[in-house]
Amino acid sequence: MKPSFSNNLNAKIDFVIFDVDNVIIDTISAARMAQSALGQTLTGALGKESADRVEQKFISNYNTLTAQAKAGAGEIQENFQTLLPRIQSWQKGVLEEGWEMKLWSREILLAIALEENDIPVRKDLIDTALNPYWHSLTTESKIRPDACQVLDICRDSGAAVHLATASDGFLEFNERQQTFFYDPQKAVQKKLNRMAILQTLELQNHDVSVGDPIGKPDERFFSQVLKDFEAKLGRKIELDRTLAVGDNLCDDVLPLLSLGVARGAWLVADEIQADGPRLLPDNPRVGVVNSLNKLPGIPWSPS
Ligand SMILES: [Mg+2]
Repeated sequence: MKPSFSNNLNAKIDFVIFDVDNVIIDTISAARMAQSALGQTLTGALGKESADRVEQKFISNYNTLTAQAKAGAGEIQENFQTLLPRIQSWQKGVLEEGWEMKLWSREILLAIALEENDIPVRKDLIDTALNPYWHSLTTESKIRPDACQVLDICRDSGAAVHLATASDGFLEFNERQQTFFYDPQKAVQKKLNRMAILQTLELQNHDVSVGDPIGKPDERFFSQVLKDFEAKLGRKIELDRTLAVGDNLCDDVLPLLSLGVARGAWLVADEIQADGPRLLPDNPRVGVVNSLNKLPGIPWSPS
């Protein structure tokens, strides 16, 4: 029998909200290519030795963010704890204008990497190095094969789909003030451009809620996600038939459950699951899968 959400008698799923990066889009290999594009551009400006050191620092801080994103609820990693105040200190301009902190700003990761190598942070350096970075991240992004499969499963089961993605920041550097500023409209547009590959799945801009200016894990963002989903469908969504899917338990899944979404699925790519998906022991509304095509097989308790 083909996997289908309709076969699971314990949980009828009619609405699915997916995270995008590393759930629908494989960003991991694209990020490596983008990092090397960044390094190459920096080589022109700084010479090979300095550029290599800056690139390595940029990569290690990016890896700190991705490692923290994979952590379980309540788990704060040591490297992340060190990095966070540094990210904050570079966005004085963002915070003073009342915006929330942009955790994933690559502009700031580059500023930190330059600072750590005693290289003055200049606007031309930030801009020229990040243009090829974003270009490469956009063009090298691929759709995960299991995402194609699960979207087919959703279509076959008649389940409606919506996407919710975090802000990438896309901050502007002010060299004189040595801080970054933020324009939410530009940030939304740049994030949509960066995810252009979604069009190959026939997903349009109205299928995606972008976390600007308020983003994950803020509940106000997820209330907006539910509103966007309903506006697109032209009808109410039934939360007891809704599933939230993400690779970040705390940022993608738990906030939607707090808003009343009945079920969540946490994608943990490197988990070995000989016996199929399991439920999270301390939160049995959340199933753990190592591949999206296992979503219909989550052993939900009867609702
Ligand atoms: Mg993700």
